[in-house]
Amino acid sequence: MRIVHTIKELRELLKEQRRAGKRIGFVPTMGALHEGHLSLIRQSAESCDYTVLSIFINPIQFGENEDLDKYPRDLEGDSRKAEGAGADLLFHPSPEEMLGGGLLTYVDMKRLPDNLCGAKREGHFRGVCTIVAKFFNIVAPDRAFFGKKDIQQLYIIKKMVDELNFDLEIVPGEIVRSEDGLALSSRNVYLSPEEHNDALVLNRSLKEAALLIEKGEKTSQNIINMINEMIIEKKSARIDYIKIVNSDMEDVEIVSKGGILALAVFIGSTRLIDNHIIGEEICF
Ligand code: AMP
Repeated sequence: MRIVHTIKELRELLKEQRRAGKRIGFVPTMGALHEGHLSLIRQSAESCDYTVLSIFINPIQFGENEDLDKYPRDLEGDSRKAEGAGADLLFHPSPEEMLGGGLLTYVDMKRLPDNLCGAKREGHFRGVCTIVAKFFNIVAPDRAFFGKKDIQQLYIIKKMVDELNFDLEIVPGEIVRSEDGLALSSRNVYLSPEEHNDALVLNRSLKEAALLIEKGEKTSQNIINMINEMIIEKKSARIDYIKIVNSDMEDVEIVSKGGILALAVFIGSTRLIDNHIIGEEICF
C-alpha cells in the first residue's frame, strides 16, 4: 500500500491507474480505524480495482468546544489495518495541504443540515461537505463509500453529489457493531468500562423501538418517549436528541417504512450517535 501526503503526488498516481482502466473506490475517514471503517474498505476492494483511503482529521467540521485536539490518532496502526483490508493507497494530507491558510469557498447546503446533528453542531456539515467535495475533486473516484452510522451525513453527501453533478456513485455501508451491540466509533475509546456499559442503552433502546414499531406503534412521540425513558435511567447519559425523520431530515409525526430513528446521547463527556432505518433488518 502506498502512502502519500500531497495532492500532486496522489493525482499523478491515480492518473496512471485511470489510464490502465482501473475503477477507483474511495473511503474517506478521520482515522483511528475500526471494523466499521475496514468494512467500507473491504466493500470498495471487492467492487473496485483500486481503493483509496483518506485519513484526515478535518478541522473545519469541528466546533470550538469539540474534541479536535484530543481526537485519537494512530497512523501506524491504521496503515497496517487498511492494507490488511485491501486499501491500495493511503492519502494522509496535512491541514495546510487541504486548507492552505483558510478557505474562501465553502459548500453550504440548505435544510438537510438543520435537524439532528447539524442542529446541534453548528457549521459541522458545511465543513463536511466542503472537505468531501474537495476530496471528490482530488481523487475523482468512481464510487465513494459512506457508513450508515452517520446517517444524516450519508443523505447530505448523496444530495450534494446529485445537486453538484459529481460523476460518482455513493455506496452506503451497514453499521458495524461490537458483540454487545454498541455501534463502533473512534470515540468509543474515550468510554470507561462503566460508561461503555451505559452506552449499550443506545442500541438497546433502538432495538426496543424497532420491535414496538413492528408490533404496530405508529406515533413518533410514543416511540420517542419509550426511548427517552430507557435512556434517562442510565446515570452517565444525557440526551442530545431523539428524533424520527424522513429522508429529507424532517421530523415526522407518524412513522413509516424508510423513516429514520436517530439519536445522539452524551455518555459522560463523550457524544455518541446511533440510528435505525424503519423496515430494515433489526440486527443488533
Ligand atoms: P469517521 O472516521 O468517523 O469520519 O468515519 C469515516 C466513515 O466510516 C464514515 O463514512 C462513517 O459513517 C463510517 N463509519 C464510522 N463508524 C462506522 C460503523 N460503526 N459502521 C459503519 N461505518 C462506520
